[in-house]
Amino acid sequence: MTKRGFSFEFFPPRTAEQKVALEATQKKLRQLQPHFFSVTFGAGGSTLDATRETVLAMQKHGSPIVVPHLSCMGGTPESIKKLLQTYQEAGINHILALRGDVPSGMGSVGYFRHANELIEFIRTEFGDAFHITAAAYPEVHPESESRASDLKYLKQKVDAGVDQLITQFFFNADAYFQFVDDARAAGIDVPIIPGIMPITNYSNIKRFCDFCGTDMPRWLQYKLRDFGDDRAAIQAFGTEFTTHLSQRLLDGGAPSIHFYTLNRARATLDIVKNLNP
Ligand SMILES: Cc1cc2nc3c(=O)[nH]c(=O)nc-3n(C[C@H](O)[C@H](O)[C@H](O)COP(=O)(O)OP(=O)(O)OC[C@H]3O[C@@H](n4cnc5c(N)ncnc54)[C@H](O)[C@@H]3O)c2cc1C
Repeated sequence: MTKRGFSFEFFPPRTAEQKVALEATQKKLRQLQPHFFSVTFGAGGSTLDATRETVLAMQKHGSPIVVPHLSCMGGTPESIKKLLQTYQEAGINHILALRGDVPSGMGSVGYFRHANELIEFIRTEFGDAFHITAAAYPEVHPESESRASDLKYLKQKVDAGVDQLITQFFFNADAYFQFVDDARAAGIDVPIIPGIMPITNYSNIKRFCDFCGTDMPRWLQYKLRDFGDDRAAIQAFGTEFTTHLSQRLLDGGAPSIHFYTLNRARATLDIVKNLNP
């Protein structure tokens, strides 16, 4: 039987205007009773304070639970421990642990080189106090030597103490299903939640795809380009496409769907409302 549920990801607002907009977005998305809200962690530590402040402000609402992202760019073991203690004191017990992306011009990633090391550290220092989510890549992480090595390191990461995985966004449901099969065969048995990016604009989503190594099918690129500046048409098509993709994932056994909202409610609301329970 299909289990349904949703979680929504936000980035920390940079201006007072963005802060107000994010509060409005969260208010709308709370109606959907998501499993959790998550807040990204910017590279280079530049938004460490912004992530913490956003998370602590959201946590005051009580529900849904708030999941801070934490990357290896977060600093030294001491500073990471202090941040996790702050979260713990605020009642936060779920973390999305990542390596993060190395900021351009910065030679190394920090004390922990890969997410598995950060996760081992959290488990050593905090035991089972945090539920830990980590990232997975159905279409292979762009830095990986091979699909096999990516899966090997994913298994190592999960064994370090991961409770569930959320995937990078993708457009091809078969990539997800094949990935889940291969992960199971590799002995990875935690839930694998598909990450979905609503389509609202061609150039932005194409840029994200190029950065993350997400394969945007050629037909989809042409279709979106042909809409030109007709934003309403792109959004209508994007909602239909993403609803169909999400429904297929749920029908095929995905445990829930994580939406990369980009701090906007409309597209995500439209998609979730279209999904059949
Ligand atoms: C759901 C989700 C949320 C995200 N949120 C953020 C965010 O908030 N902030 C942010 O900066 N980025 C975020 N990212 C992007 C993520 O930080 C990048 O994709 C980053 O390049 C890899 O992070 P990771 O935790 O998957 O790294 P890792 O698991 O460390 O993997 C990175 C690469 O190294 C390889 N590898 C893994 N372990 C080892 C090892 N021990 N030895 C050698 N090679 C290894 C892997 O195969 C892979 O190729 C997110 C991604 C996802 C899917």
